[in-house]
Amino acid sequence: MDKNTKGINTICTHVGEVEDKQFKGAVSPLYMSSSYAFQDVDVKRYPRYFNTPNQEGLAIKIAALEQCESGLIFGSGMAAISTAVMAFLEAGDHIVLQGDIYGGTYNLVVEQFNKFGIDFSFSKGMKEADFEELIKPNTKVIYVETPSNPLLKITDLRMIAALAKKYNLISMIDNTFASPINQIPANFGINIIIHSATKYMGGHSDMCAGAVACSEEHIEKIFHLAKNLGGSLSDYTVWLLERSMKTMGIRVRAQNENAQRLADYLSNHEDIDAVYYPGLKSHVGHEIAKQQMSGFGGMMSFELKEDLDAGLFQKSLQLIKPSMSLAGVESTVLSPAETSHALLGAEERKNRGIADGLIRFSVGIEETEDLIRDIEQALIQIKKKQIVTSS
Ligand code: PLP
Repeated sequence: MDKNTKGINTICTHVGEVEDKQFKGAVSPLYMSSSYAFQDVDVKRYPRYFNTPNQEGLAIKIAALEQCESGLIFGSGMAAISTAVMAFLEAGDHIVLQGDIYGGTYNLVVEQFNKFGIDFSFSKGMKEADFEELIKPNTKVIYVETPSNPLLKITDLRMIAALAKKYNLISMIDNTFASPINQIPANFGINIIIHSATKYMGGHSDMCAGAVACSEEHIEKIFHLAKNLGGSLSDYTVWLLERSMKTMGIRVRAQNENAQRLADYLSNHEDIDAVYYPGLKSHVGHEIAKQQMSGFGGMMSFELKEDLDAGLFQKSLQLIKPSMSLAGVESTVLSPAETSHALLGAEERKNRGIADGLIRFSVGIEETEDLIRDIEQALIQIKKKQIVTSS
């Protein structure tokens, strides 16, 4: 199948299928073998070499979705991020990262890079000058995440690709929040595209996986380190992920629609102080998001009015579950200050604009009206409880 001539839902459904030559079944057979013949074969296959039939098939799907030559599937998003980043850095090198990034990526850098002699800088903002002022003669990689976790900040991908070209850097993006349904960074010149496939690719809150897509030349470099680090994904989960990805297009588009309606509703609500969603005209990154995203995604964050207890609000929701992860078909909420960004500490969170009462909202595929009803009943409940406790 020619990956360039298919629409996104067709790629989701079919590209990279493993053919069932024996029984002609409709779906990819699952090859669980961790031991393959080494004589009289074209490829010596082994799960940690990322080249079992199911691993290879799914990597083709990811590459096609991201409009890249090649892909690799990992055991987690962090395995994909750490392997991809470290593949292009050695002792004495420097990396520039967007300041507003996923807490786990931040922790990887600040907790591990010093011991490998790798220097790093985080941008203060998302503008060109914020990144360019940090570039040094030994800078090798520029790393961004857009929309970012948890404030949905938008970085201009054309600007990052141009900076990378100007200073001969490798550009990388964590494309998890957008998913390839809403944003194809390679079309703007970004070199390496990374995903926590635990999120929209998996889409059902029941697996942990990661993915990378890029050129064949770059994948060679990443693979070289990946087989040493050993962060491959088990074939059973690869197979489940392939199944999940068949519906990614329709799931994510339903989530986009739901999120836009909820963002409109929340931003007009008297009990809500702020809503961060790139699909809102009031969002600082809206104009750039419009240029580089085909949909604004299912993620948003919001702050309740200061006198309302955000913790109590999350406990009072009945349909929307408090949950560590995101991007499932079910709507979930989370407090970044208590989870993904807890290790940053109060001072650093404040510097980054992450209020303690900030609620990250992963919008699922339920009916919008049911989600609104749940939010309304939770607000009524917490107001009642707060009146009781304060009287
Ligand atoms: N990138 C983003 C934007 C995330 O939200 C996460 C996890 O929440 C990761 C990367 C890490 O992915 P994983 O938990 O699959 O390692």
